[in-house]
Amino acid sequence: MNYEEQLDRAMAETPDISEDGSRFEVPDPDVRPEGNVTVYENFQETLDRLDRDEEGVLKFIQTDLGTSANIDEKGRARLTGNFRERRVADALESYVDSFVRCQECDLPDTRIVEEQGTTVLKCDACGALSPVPDI
Ligand SMILES: [Zn+2]
Repeated sequence: MNYEEQLDRAMAETPDISEDGSRFEVPDPDVRPEGNVTVYENFQETLDRLDRDEEGVLKFIQTDLGTSANIDEKGRARLTGNFRERRVADALESYVDSFVRCQECDLPDTRIVEEQGTTVLKCDACGALSPVPDI
């Protein structure tokens, strides 16, 4: 193999790097059924990753799933009804799209702040302010 072939091979084996180089990974929901309730085991871990308060996230998931939910003494979310991991992950993804990812630059370096009486998503990366939907 000559040098150019080696180089080609090395390039081909380099894993694809996403365009902005900052993939934002939310932990997959670890859910299990318990009677007619779905227990979201790693809810707190997810909140830490999202850097958001549990009320807002829980309220959004409840609305998205069309059910009621609460937080138990161990910090797990308990969703009324049986939901598969995929369904909960979809709800979480919608949350991230609206409340975590900057609508201008797509980075997750954002905070939810009050600006002139309105709740907005403020991006620390590019400074953009984006409206957030009412839950
Ligand atoms: Zn931004």
